[in-house]
Amino acid sequence: MSLYEKPAHILHDMLTRKEISARELTEDVLSRIDAVENEVGAYLLEMRETAIAEANRVDAKIAAGKEIHFLAGIPGAIKDNICTKGVRTTAGSKILESFVPPYDATVMTKLHDADAVILGKANLDEFAMGGSTENSAYHPTHNPWDTERVPGGSSGGSAAAVASGTAIWALGSDTGGSIRQPASFCGIVGLKPTYGRVSRYGLMAYASSLDQIGPLTRDVTDAAHLMNVIAGHDVMDSTASRADVPDYTKALQNDVKGLKIGLPKEYFISGMDSDVEASVRMAIADVEAMGAEVREISLPHTDYAVSTYYLIAPAEAATNLERYDGVSYGVRVDGEDLVDMMTRTRTEKFGAEVKRRILIGNYALSAGYYDAYYLKALKVRTLIQQDFTRAFEEVDVIMTPTAPTPAYKIGEMTSPLQMYLQDISTVPLNLAGLPGISVPCGFTAAGLPIGLQIIGRPLAEETILRAAYAYEQAHDFHTKMAPIGGKA
Ligand code: GLN
Repeated sequence: MSLYEKPAHILHDMLTRKEISARELTEDVLSRIDAVENEVGAYLLEMRETAIAEANRVDAKIAAGKEIHFLAGIPGAIKDNICTKGVRTTAGSKILESFVPPYDATVMTKLHDADAVILGKANLDEFAMGGSTENSAYHPTHNPWDTERVPGGSSGGSAAAVASGTAIWALGSDTGGSIRQPASFCGIVGLKPTYGRVSRYGLMAYASSLDQIGPLTRDVTDAAHLMNVIAGHDVMDSTASRADVPDYTKALQNDVKGLKIGLPKEYFISGMDSDVEASVRMAIADVEAMGAEVREISLPHTDYAVSTYYLIAPAEAATNLERYDGVSYGVRVDGEDLVDMMTRTRTEKFGAEVKRRILIGNYALSAGYYDAYYLKALKVRTLIQQDFTRAFEEVDVIMTPTAPTPAYKIGEMTSPLQMYLQDISTVPLNLAGLPGISVPCGFTAAGLPIGLQIIGRPLAEETILRAAYAYEQAHDFHTKMAPIGGKA
C-alpha cells in the first residue's frame, strides 16, 4: 500500500516511529497529484514549494527529538473559500480571481500551529452554492470513482482529493450539505460540526447563520483528530461556542450498546435510489445487531426544509455578496460611471447560479414580500428545530441516507430545482444547527459509494463519532480507494 492511500492516524504513527519522513510522505502525495490530478481536477491551486518546506520543518522537529502534533507533516487540502494568508483564495469565483487574503482564517492558524502540510486550495461551487462542483467558475471536478460523474459539492474538490489520494485529509464548509454530500458521493467521511463549534473567521460567508467548517477524511478516527485541531471558541467569531472542547478521540470506543437510534419516516422518501435505500437500511440493521435500539420517529416539517433553506440561504447570500462591488472587494470591470462599473463588475464576474440566488434572496427580502417569504421561512425554521428537539427527547442519534442518490453524471442535472431537491436530507441539520456525519455504508451495483448520515444533538459530536466509528469498524468500506490511476 502506497503512503498516499493511508489515513492520517497510521501515517502519524509511522512518522513518530521514524519509519517515514514527512518529506517522503509529502513527495509521495505530490507524485500522486502528478499521476491523477489531470483526470480529477480537485485543485484550483497547488502549493508544492511551501508544502515541502513545511514537511522539512516537521522532519527537523522529529530529528531534534521533539514531540509532534497529530497532523504534523500530514498533507491536506483546503477548500478555496477559506482564507489563506498570502495565497490566492477565489471561492471558485471570477470576481475573486486575483484576491490574496492578507490574513489567515482561524482554522488555518490552528492548522499551522499543528504543523500540518498544506498542499493546495481545493475546487468548489462558486461561493459554495451548489451540490456538484459544476458551478465552479474555473473547471468541474470529476468523481474519482467514475470520472464522468460529479464528486458532489460544494466541497467537491476537497472530497475528490481525499478519495483519489491527492490529499490525506481536507477541510470543507457545509451550509446545506456541502461536506456530507460530497463525502457520500466520494466514499469518504465528512463531518459537519454543530453551528458555532468551529470558528467561521476567514470563511468567505455564504449564509452566515448556516455556514460551518468541518473535516473530510478517510475514516472516522481521522475526523475525530481533525476536530481536536479545529474546534473551539474564537474571539474573532461572535457565534463561536464557548463550550469546552472534548478530546473527540475518546468517542472512538467501538460500542453502541443501548444507543437509541431514530429513523425519521419522512427521510425514506419515494424516488430514493433503491441501492441507496437498501444499503442504508442494512447499515441500520447492522448497528441494531451491535446492541443499539432502533425506533421509527417523525420529523413532521421535513417537507418544508428545502423551500425554507432556499429562501434563508439566498437571502443571507444576497446580503453577504453585496461587498463584491468592484470597490470594497472583487476585481473591477470599468464602466462609464459608478453604477455602470458596479453593474458590469457583478454581471461579468458572477456566475449564473450566484446571480440566481442573489435575485431570489433580494426578492424574498424586499419590502412587499419580506413577511410572505423571508419571515415565514424563519418561522418554519423554528418548527424544524422543534421537530429535532422533540425527537432528541426520545433518541440519541438519528440515521438517514446522506443523499437520495449516488453521484450523478456531469451535466445530468439540468434544472436548478432538481438539484435543490437533492438536499432534502442534509439542509434540515443546518437549519437546526445540528452536527452530522456521513460515513461510507456500501456501493451501488455500478460500484458508486453510498453514505449513511448520523445526526446528533447540539454539541454531541462525540455521540455521532461513537456511532460512526462502531459501524465503520465492523465493515471495510472505508478501506477501499477509488479505482483511478491504475488502482482498483
Ligand atoms: N447544495 C446546497 C446549496 O446549494 C448546499 C451548499 C453548501 O452546503 N455550501 O446551497
